[in-house]
Formats: sequence, C-alpha cells, structure tokens
Amino acid sequence: MNPLPDYLPLSMLNQLEYCERRFWLMYVNGEMAVNAAVMEGVFQHERVHAGGQSREGEKRIYRRVYLWSDRLRVAGFADVVEEREGELIPVEYKRGRMGKWLNDHVQLCAQAICLEERTGRQVRFGEIFYWRSRTRQRVEFTPTLRARTEVAVARAFALLREGRLPLPDQPYTKCRDCSLEPICMPREVKLLLKGAGQSTAPREEER
Ligand code: SF4
Repeated sequence: MNPLPDYLPLSMLNQLEYCERRFWLMYVNGEMAVNAAVMEGVFQHERVHAGGQSREGEKRIYRRVYLWSDRLRVAGFADVVEEREGELIPVEYKRGRMGKWLNDHVQLCAQAICLEERTGRQVRFGEIFYWRSRTRQRVEFTPTLRARTEVAVARAFALLREGRLPLPDQPYTKCRDCSLEPICMPREVKLLLKGAGQSTAPREEER
C-alpha cells in the first residue's frame, strides 16, 4: 500500500461524500470517465479556472484560489472567492442542477474551513452556482455540515489506510447518474457477490 498523502485534494471529498467506491476509483486508481456531461463541466469551468481577480462595484472576486488546511490535511482550489459586505464567500461552479445529495455542500464547506484557517476570519456561508439552472444556492456552514465534512475527511484517510476498494453499496439512482458506472460495474459486482453468498445492500439513509 502506498503511504498516506500529506494532504487530500478538496475535490476528492466531493467524490467520497457521493460514494466511497467512486472516491477510490478516482483517487487511488486514477479512473476518469470522460462522457458528454464531464466535458460540459470542463468547458463551463474554463472561465473561472483562468484565475486572477476583479472588482464589480463593491464586490471583489478572486478566481481559482489555492486553499489548504493543515488541521484537516486537505488542499485544493476554490473556483471563486467573493468578498462582499464584509463577508468572504466561497463560490463553487457546478454543471447541471442541484442534486439531492450533499457532496457539493461538503466540498464547499471544506473550502470554507480552509479559508478560515488561512485568513483567521469566519466564513458563514458559501454559494453553489448551477450552470444548467443558472441559479445560485446559498449554503450555510452549520455545525452539522462542518461535522459531516470533518467525518468525510476522516473517512477518506481511513479508507486509504484500509487499502482496499470499497464494494458498491449505493442505490440505483446514484449509480445511474455516476460517470464511472461503466468502469465500476456495480450490478455485475453485486451479482457476483450474491453468487458467492455476500450482499452489498444500499445504506439505509440512501435507499
Ligand atoms: S456506479 Fe455506483 S457504486 Fe459505482 S462508483 Fe458510481 S455511485 Fe459508486
């Protein structure tokens, strides 16, 4: 097993919160399925990934901001950090529309924790801009979301320490929307496990 990384990429927390097997396939195995939806996201991110800063009225906009937390051992880029009315606001750009899972929220919250550590300022909320619906969703960094984010970080390091690919245990609705489904082959793996007398029932909260 490879040694544990010093810092986990922030974007991988999004994958882990969505599905531990997806996190492993992408982070450890380096799998990346480029389908139309993924390419759409790449093109949509081009502008924010150009970096730099600008001002719109009283609002300052910092693009592609490198952030890290020595306490959590995570690091990566925020698409945008806005400064307006005395608040620092991380803004993440996502393709599509708001989903029912909290993976985007966890990624954004991890950015906020990093931003607080770097600046010494409190970051109360962030925003997610969904390209398809052209809407911004405000995300409050509640104690519950902060705790969930820290659990996700701990779980990622624990998985890497365990050193094995998690079994597919996600509900059909998640696998259907997952770009790695053709690589992961959750149905086939479940059938094989069933044949061997094992099961991977979806977790209660996610059925
Ligand atoms: S197909 Fe399902 S089990 Fe496999 S990585 Fe995607 S969400 Fe996880």
